Amino acid sequence: MKEIGHWINGKHVAGSSGRTADVWNPATGEVQAKVALASKAELDAAVADAAKAQPEWAATNPQRRARVMMKFVSLLQRDMDKLAEALSREHGKTIPDAKGDVQRGLEVVEFCIGAPHMLKGEFTDAAGPGIDMYSMRQPIGVAAGITPFNFPAMIPMWKMAPALACGNAFILKPSERDPSVPLMLAELMQEAGLPDGLLQVINGDKESVDAILDNEDIGAIGFVGSTPIAQYIYERGCANGKRVQCFGGAKNHMIIMPDADLDQAADALVGAGYGAAGERCMAISVAVPVGEETADRLIEKLVPKIEALKVGPYTSGDDVDYGPVVTPMAKENIQRLVQSGVDAGAELVVDGRDFSLQGYEDGFFVGPHLFDRVTPDMEIYQKEIFGPVLSCVRAGSYEEALKLAMDHEYGNGTAIFTRDGDAARDFAARVNVGMVGINVPIPVPLAYHTFGGWKKSVFGDLNQHGPDAFRFYTRTKTVTSRWPSGIKEGGEFTIPVME
Ligand code: NAD
Repeated sequence: MKEIGHWINGKHVAGSSGRTADVWNPATGEVQAKVALASKAELDAAVADAAKAQPEWAATNPQRRARVMMKFVSLLQRDMDKLAEALSREHGKTIPDAKGDVQRGLEVVEFCIGAPHMLKGEFTDAAGPGIDMYSMRQPIGVAAGITPFNFPAMIPMWKMAPALACGNAFILKPSERDPSVPLMLAELMQEAGLPDGLLQVINGDKESVDAILDNEDIGAIGFVGSTPIAQYIYERGCANGKRVQCFGGAKNHMIIMPDADLDQAADALVGAGYGAAGERCMAISVAVPVGEETADRLIEKLVPKIEALKVGPYTSGDDVDYGPVVTPMAKENIQRLVQSGVDAGAELVVDGRDFSLQGYEDGFFVGPHLFDRVTPDMEIYQKEIFGPVLSCVRAGSYEEALKLAMDHEYGNGTAIFTRDGDAARDFAARVNVGMVGINVPIPVPLAYHTFGGWKKSVFGDLNQHGPDAFRFYTRTKTVTSRWPSGIKEGGEFTIPVME
């Protein structure tokens, strides 16, 4: 059985805790590897080495650090196929989608090539007589990132690239579900010129996460994952005096106005609802058509599109719309929630419960489901399902639709489909959700903007990537400097007196 260890001080290192977790191939259902789960002692030793390596990196000028990022981008492009294959084999998403996962991470690395500009700081000339004032952005020291299974390339890069470009050392604790790509990223960082010890990839579970939360050398922690864990990490990390930002779960609503282009809206819903088997924090999981007629027409258009979705293994190439979900536990959880929807009286208009794929009966495939007439009291509406299940909640008016999105505890993403600029502007201005799409179903901001939700989708104040990342991974130091003017006309022999 293949064993996956850690990346410490520029080398692959086997785990020594004796604890491991299964890494499945979700398409076949086989356990393809065992990943080491680090102990507190292993985590602490890797952090101590990172702390030793960091001061020299911080003293390296930002242009040189940026050049490592530049080289890293070209290596990602060189190895794109290899990275995508490894990613799909452990995650299950299709190869084109896996390439998108790498690409959206790469774009944040590209933004980090601008680190010298982002780190310039502020300067006030002559703030007083002989006084100048300047603010510097200095690295935190050692930062850590704890990342989820669903974007095993993109989210580690969103964390590591800005942290390293700012002059920090970085401890990455990736998801134990799909640990291979983060280790490949570490190899490429080394090839790009990153000195050893600055990027440590430590595989693990709660034990290593708790060790990160309690380690005194770690000054900042970025987390992405489910909301209960996000809240736990935020509270314990903050209680230990660290800077913490945690991004949590989602239930993204798409509002379909009566004047929308319904063919366009139905296509958008199918891609955003079922792409990556719904395992995206920006997936649309709730469709809110406004008016009964809009709802009837939308359902009529959606059903044949959903029934035509091609579900299969990544090895079938471009011919597959989405793959399996990540683990047997994820599949079971989705099945349980679907059953709860049926029991609660929602109408299951596309029923994927009997889905099975010939030759892949043991894979974690889930057929597409569409529920109509879902109501806010149902568990399928309240919980994040993280599977290929779209719920339609019919709203009587625009205000009712807006209220649904606003009253939900999550506030990651949302969208409105309409031809009415006034409705679109009103929605963007009033909705209490962090990322809004107007006729765009998955409004993931590009690398030079920032990414983050509102409400229970986030704990902390700064967003991910863009300018906020440079704020999160640095501390501000402000210097007030006074250089009194000397006596330029030679010696003064009379005792100085105040006038
Ligand atoms: P998860 O919360 O199970 O795991 C995330 C990380 O936390 C992993 O590294 C895991 O090892 C660790 N972890 C798990 N249980 C822990 C515990 N009890 N104590 C300490 N650490 C623990 O999330 P997941 O299933 O890997 O990812 C899916 C979730 O991530 C979904 O809720 C999704 O919405 C969310 N997500 C959010 C965003 C965002 O930006 N808001 C982006 C991607 C995914």
